[in-house]
Amino acid sequence: MTFLYRDTVSWGPVGTVSVGFTERRLDLGDLAAPAVREAALAEVAAATGATPYLMHQVHGAEVLLVEDWRAPTWDPHVDALLTAEPGRALLARAADCVPVLLAADTGLIGAVHAGREGVRRGVVTAALDRLRALGAGQVRAWLGPHICGACYEVPAQLRDEVAAAVPPTWATTSWGTPALDLGAGVRSQLEAAGCSVVEVGGCTRELPVLHSHRRDGAAAGRLAGVVWRAA
Ligand SMILES: [Zn+2]
Repeated sequence: MTFLYRDTVSWGPVGTVSVGFTERRLDLGDLAAPAVREAALAEVAAATGATPYLMHQVHGAEVLLVEDWRAPTWDPHVDALLTAEPGRALLARAADCVPVLLAADTGLIGAVHAGREGVRRGVVTAALDRLRALGAGQVRAWLGPHICGACYEVPAQLRDEVAAAVPPTWATTSWGTPALDLGAGVRSQLEAAGCSVVEVGGCTRELPVLHSHRRDGAAAGRLAGVVWRAA
């Protein structure tokens, strides 16, 4: 099994878009040994029948259309990838941040990495704006496993800063200290952009089958949200 969760949506003439979120057995992180990550990518390629595309995630709000890819070895420093081409699997990697997958009725798909900075800076909204500019009508979004608001403790000032930009993120941990609910923030951004939202669920810190930076520390692996359209 490659994916803990799988789903599809069919948009008539553009065919079926599939999504999945990988299990902890796979480590797609930059800190994984090259052989480990290559094996994980090969498994994703085999499970999807598509070519995997990774981005070098930098907690920004830049969006890249894969068709603008410059060279096979290019390592784009972005947090949102889009493509209109079947046969490509887009990956958003995370270990507590929110992986978001998008499928538009025109066949465009997208993968977005939304961490604390990405939520504050609006990377999800930027990706949706780009999809709309490229002609998307209806868009379905899958909000992947991430650290929940009851677990994601942050300093009070940081909570205030992020919540000032995205009010639904304001939260309190289960032990009563300041926290951020990144999932609530992303959901509000998706809904404001008119998406139908599928919440995949699962707190990375609480569920042992998921990678978590807060639980496992700096050496934590990365899960991936994967979206693809069959070639
Ligand atoms: Zn939690």
